[in-house]
Amino acid sequence: MIPTVHTSDIRDHATAPEAGAILDAFAELAGEDGRAPVDALFARLDEAVASGIELLEPWGEDDWFYLRYGPAVTATYGLDMAGRLVSEMPEPSAQAYRELLHRVRRERKPMLAVLQSLAVQRVRSWEKLILPCKAPCGADRIATFVTARLSREDLLTAVLEASQDGIMSVRAVRDPQGRVVDAVIVTANQQASEYSGHPVWRLVHGSFKALFPGLVARRVWDRCVRVIEERATERFEINISHRRLDTWLRVTIVPLDDGFVISFCDVTDLKYALIEAECSREELAAEIEQRLALEQELRRLSHTDELTQALNRRGFDAALRREIALAGRYQRPFSIVAVDIDHFKRINDVHGHAAGDRVLGAVAELLRSAVRADADVIGRIGGEEFVLLLPSTRKEGAMALAERIRERLAAQSFEVAGERISVSASFGVAEGAPEAGEDAVMRAADAALYAAKRSGRNRVCLARPPAEIVRPQLAS
Ligand code: GH3
Ligand code: MG
Ligand code: MG
Repeated sequence: MIPTVHTSDIRDHATAPEAGAILDAFAELAGEDGRAPVDALFARLDEAVASGIELLEPWGEDDWFYLRYGPAVTATYGLDMAGRLVSEMPEPSAQAYRELLHRVRRERKPMLAVLQSLAVQRVRSWEKLILPCKAPCGADRIATFVTARLSREDLLTAVLEASQDGIMSVRAVRDPQGRVVDAVIVTANQQASEYSGHPVWRLVHGSFKALFPGLVARRVWDRCVRVIEERATERFEINISHRRLDTWLRVTIVPLDDGFVISFCDVTDLKYALIEAECSREELAAEIEQRLALEQELRRLSHTDELTQALNRRGFDAALRREIALAGRYQRPFSIVAVDIDHFKRINDVHGHAAGDRVLGAVAELLRSAVRADADVIGRIGGEEFVLLLPSTRKEGAMALAERIRERLAAQSFEVAGERISVSASFGVAEGAPEAGEDAVMRAADAALYAAKRSGRNRVCLARPPAEIVRPQLAS
C-alpha cells in the first residue's frame, strides 16, 4: 500500500475542514527547528479538533508508541491504541505509517498523507495531518490529526451497505483452456452475507460455486457464465429453498470486467401477496357462485309446494305469466287443466289427515309421470286442487291428456298405512288466449271443472270461450 503524500500546499490537498485551523496554530507555535511544543499546540485547539489527534513518541529503532489516541479516532476506527505500538496495527498499514512518522521526524515539516486502510470488507481512506512536535524536555513527539476521507470507494462502499439487495462483485476463474469454471467473490455487502448465511469475510475471496450451491443447482451459475461470455445483463426471479424456507429471489447479473456483479433481493412477501390476492379472488368467485346457488334454491323453495313438490300458487302464477308472454310472442297455443280430487274431505275423515297428505303426494306423482317433464308445469293451487299448464298444446291435446290421467287415477288405488285408498278427480280444460290474460284462462278452466263436478265428478269438461261449457259423455 503506497500512501499519497503532500509536503507542500497541504491546505489545498486537505479535505478536513479542521486542517486550516490546525496548520495556523502549528505555524504560530513552530520554532526555528520546525517543531511545535505539544502542550501549547493542544492548548490552542478546541476540544473537538483535539479529540481527532494522536500523539506519538519514537520507540526503539523503528517503532512508535501511542501516548494518546484521540477519542474521535477511537470512535471511527473502533479501537484504542493508547499505550500500544504502531507495529501492533495490522500490516501493511503499520509499516507505511511508521515510515511516514520517521520522515516527518527527519524532515521536521508537516505532511498530509492519504492512506488506504483495507478492512475486511471495506476499503476506506484516511487523511493524516502529521506534525513534528516536541515535548517540554525537547524530545521528539509527533501529533497526527486523523480524519476519514470520503473517496469513490467509500461512496461505493456506503452505497453497497445501504442497499437492501445482496450485492457481490465476482471475477471469473478460468481453466487453462480459458473456459469459465468458477468465480471468486471480490466484494460482498452485508445483505449478501445475510442472504447467504456466510459472514462477509468468508464470502470475499471465496468460490462462488462452493458458497452458493443452491444457485448452482437452480442453473443460476449457467446464467452467470452466459453474462461473462456474452456480456449481456440477465434479470429473472427464482424460487429457492432458503434456510429451509420457501423464498423468491429477484436476481440481476450485470457484466463487469472478466466477471459480473450479482444482486438479489427477497421478493417472497410480494410474491405471496400476489398469490393471496389471486386466492381471495378465487374464493370470492366461489362465494358468489355459492350465494347465487343459494338464492336460486330459495327462489325454488318459495315457488314450490313442500308436500307435493309441485309449484305453489305463486310459482304457478309466474309460470303462467311467462307462458302467456311466450305464447303471444311466438303465436303458439297453450292449455290449462284444472284438477280437483273428488270427495277428498272423506279421505281425511275416514283415513286421517296424514293419509290424505300421502294421497296428495301420490296424485302429484301420477300427474308428474303423465306430463312432459321438460315442458309442462304442475301447480298445487289449493288443498286438493292441482293445475296443469301445457305449452304448445291445443284443447284437443289437453282433453286427451286429462282423460288419460282421469282414467289412470280412477283405475289405481294407493296403499297408505296398510289400507288401499281409491280416489277419482274432476278436470276442467281451457285453451288459453294470450290477449285475454291469465285470469280469463284460469276462470274458464275453473268453470269447466265446476261443470265436471256438477255433472257427477270423475270426468273431464272443456271450457269453450267465452262461457259455453262442453260436457263430454259420462265416464264409465
Ligand atoms: P269435492 O269433490 O266437491 O271437491 O269434495 P271435496 O271434499 O274434495 O272438497 P272440499 O273443498 O269440500 O274439501 C276439500 C278438503 O281437502 C278439505 C280439506 O280438509 C282437505 N284438504 C285441503 N288441503 C289439505 C291438505 O293439505 N292435506 C289434507 N290431508 N287435506 C287437505
Ligand atoms: Mg275436491
Ligand atoms: Mg276443492
